[in-house]
Parts: sequence; structure tokens; C-alpha cells
Amino acid sequence: MKRLPCHDEPGKFHFSARLLSTREEKGLYYTVLDRTWFYPESGGQPADRGMLNDTPVLDVQIQDDKIVHVTDSPVGHGDDVWGIIDSARRIDHMQQHTGQHLLSALLLRDWRIPTVGFHISEEVTTIDLPRDAFTPREIEHLEEQANALIGEHHPVTSFWIDVEDLHRYKIRKEGKMEKEVRLVNIEGVDLSMCAGTHVDNTSELMLFKITGQEKIRGGQVRLSFLFGHRALRHFQRISLYMEEIRRALSLPEKECPDGVRRLLEEKAFWSREKKKTDSFLIELLSDRMAEENGYAAASLDWGDEAFLCTLGRRLLDKKMKVVALFQPALGFFCLLSDGSHPVQSWGEILLQRFGGKGGGNETLFRIKNCPQDLDPELLLKEMMGR
Ligand SMILES: [Zn+2]
Repeated sequence: MKRLPCHDEPGKFHFSARLLSTREEKGLYYTVLDRTWFYPESGGQPADRGMLNDTPVLDVQIQDDKIVHVTDSPVGHGDDVWGIIDSARRIDHMQQHTGQHLLSALLLRDWRIPTVGFHISEEVTTIDLPRDAFTPREIEHLEEQANALIGEHHPVTSFWIDVEDLHRYKIRKEGKMEKEVRLVNIEGVDLSMCAGTHVDNTSELMLFKITGQEKIRGGQVRLSFLFGHRALRHFQRISLYMEEIRRALSLPEKECPDGVRRLLEEKAFWSREKKKTDSFLIELLSDRMAEENGYAAASLDWGDEAFLCTLGRRLLDKKMKVVALFQPALGFFCLLSDGSHPVQSWGEILLQRFGGKGGGNETLFRIKNCPQDLDPELLLKEMMGR
């Protein structure tokens, strides 16, 4: 465990330092300072972001026991460097990380479930637990318990001890055993080995919400959750979505799930009905449109692209040699052939003429964005006369 200045001063977001070295590799610059309060990625906590002088810091890593700041241009301005840490991002990580300690401790204490994995990402924090999925009631219960612990204002402190003294402490989670190890204590809740950054009091975690769970390998469940500002932003977003849904459905909030279910059932019903009507119409139209000479062309004021193509195919079944169909409202034109006429090369000529989008083969060629005044009959005659 490496002692870092940000362990002692997690709230220090501006500092001055001297540049010790910069190395360039594949367009990236790796800068080492004589001191830094940036947190390097480790122990499941992402690296800080921020600025060194005017240069954005893209990543911070520990390499050869040194904290290395990664940028895509040189830091500049001689040997003096002014560092600014993205405080919102760091505070967010402090909330998620401390929250994870609290949640893991709670799961072990009251649920007898150890945490076997942990990850903070830009959007969500997850822990992996060796058990089946939680029921909705269990999720609610866990949320209530964690929020109660937040509200109990437990101080969070950290201290270093000699690894030989570790046996004197009852710790939940151990880490890499080195000469000195750092313990993070949530008073009355948790004591763990950890090198991350944490808030000073559980009240700073503000709010806790579980946002999802998924089964993962090894019969484990991965729980996704949010603490702090992330949880607040989540509720703000969900409230906005909910308000839009409520207005669109003209229903009170609690009736919206049933309202959406009904809409989906209706949609499925009408989509089945449309299929039936379409095939009835296609039979009727193909009977009327089939010409004795084997050439059929028409403009239709309804139907989507799939309808026109199916009608065209049905006309080919009825011994048509070439079919040209157009739907002005969609600007969609399709040419079909039983193989006796080169509809692909015709299609490519028309594609160029209309500047539309499309493509196809020797049996079916589709063109979108055709002019409204296109006359499929005239066009077919013109093509056949070539
Ligand atoms: Zn920690």
C-alpha cells in the first residue's frame, strides 16, 4: 500500500508542484511531479481527472512506485506546475467508495453475505455477491437499512498500522499485505483495509438506491447501486421520464405501468389484425392488377415498403414478368422481375436519376426518396424501350 497525499488531505483539490520528469510515448505524455494530490487508479477506484497547468489529465497511474499523470500534450510552463483536481468527480468516487464499504459491511452483518467483487464506473457502482437474486421486498429492505446507516452520521476515519499489529483488529476486508497497511473505519459499522479515498461521515453519502441486479458466472449476483449525488441525479432523471410518461398516457403515476401494458397489448392485437388485412388486400389487389401481357405498374396511396414488396412478389406468383410499384407519400419505388428483365441495371439508372437511396438484385430493386410525381407506368415503358 502506497501512502498518498490524498489519503491525508482528500479535500485538497488545488496544489503547486515541481515537474520532475516527462516522457512521451505514442502521442501521450507521462509526467511525474515532486508531489501530487491526484488519486491514481487502484483498488477498484478510478483515477482522478483534472488539469496540470492548462493541460487536461486523462489518467493517473502508479508506475514503478511513482504517480504518473497522463496527458496528450506536454504540461509546459517550465518546472512549476499548478494542479487542479476535478473535485466533483473525486467527491463522487469518495461517495461511491465509502458507500460500498457501508453496503458490504451491512450485507455481511445482517445478511451473512460477503462481497466478492467491487467496481466503480462512470455510471454505476457494482458489487458481486455469492447468492441468488434479491426479491423486490429484499431490495427495499436493504435500501431502508443502508439509508438508515447513512442517517446515523457515523464518522469515517483512516489510519496506518504496522502489518504485524493487524491481528489486534477485527477487520471485514483484508488487502495486500505490506509492511504498513491502511485501515478505514466507519465507526460502529465497518473496519477494512483500503487505500482509496473516502468521505468524513456517512451523512455525506446522502442517499442510497439499488438500480439493478444481474446473474453472473459462478452462481453470483451483481448488484448495481448509487450513492450521493449520483442517486439524486438518478431520481431527478426518473422523475422527468415519469412525468413525460404520465402526461403522454394521461394517467396518474401509479396507473402508468398498467397503462403501458394495455398499450402494448393493443399494439400486438392491431399488428396481428394488420397482417390479416394486408394479406387480404394483397390477394385482392394482385387479382385486379395482374395484366394479361405480364406487366403491372401502379401508384398506391397506402401501404409501407414491406407491403409493396409483398404485393410485387404476389404479382410475380401470378405470372407477371415485371412489376413497378410506387408509394408517393413515402417516395418509395420498387421494381420486381421474374428474371426475364434486367431490373437491377434499370434500378441503378433510376437511382442515379433521382439521387435517391436504394439497391437490390435481379428480382427486386428498391429506391427511396423518389420524386412525388413519379409515374410508374411511364417509367416502366421507358425502361422496356431501352
Ligand atoms: Zn475504501
